[in-house]
Amino acid sequence: MFLKITSIYEKLKTFFLLKVLRKKYRRTGTCKGCGRCCREIFVKHAGGVIKEEDEYNRLKKLHPFYSYLKIRYKHEDGLVFECIKLDKETGKCTIYKNRALLCKLYPQEEIFMLGGVISDECGYSFIPLETFEEVLQKVNRKVQTH
Ligand code: SF4
Ligand code: SF4
Repeated sequence: MFLKITSIYEKLKTFFLLKVLRKKYRRTGTCKGCGRCCREIFVKHAGGVIKEEDEYNRLKKLHPFYSYLKIRYKHEDGLVFECIKLDKETGKCTIYKNRALLCKLYPQEEIFMLGGVISDECGYSFIPLETFEEVLQKVNRKVQTH
């Protein structure tokens, strides 16, 4: 009985993620607290990744989170930041309870659309909600109805 309820729950969850939230992946795992994602940050705003310090300085006025970031280096895709709220000794967030929503939701699959990846050490991983065969069947069905 437990197995059946779990399976219905999983199906409903998959339906919600796919059809309502329009997601393509299911996130699994937990945060291991390595702090890596707080040391290598790209910032995207108004459709593009921030590449210049001037752009970034303007953003600081928009949300307190931006004032926590410090430029580490310049990458060909944009500026790479680290967060000053990260305790370098422990790898933990020093404002954990008051961290930005962005931090609470990290990682989201949208980072793949930005060309980003999650590190190998990250405790999270993403599993496609539909298998390759299921996607192929859908495409075939669409082709046949046109
Ligand atoms: S506020 Fe905390 S969780 Fe967010 S990037 Fe900074 S250290 Fe990481
Ligand atoms: S990289 Fe992954 S495991 Fe490490 S702190 Fe960020 S979310 Fe947690």
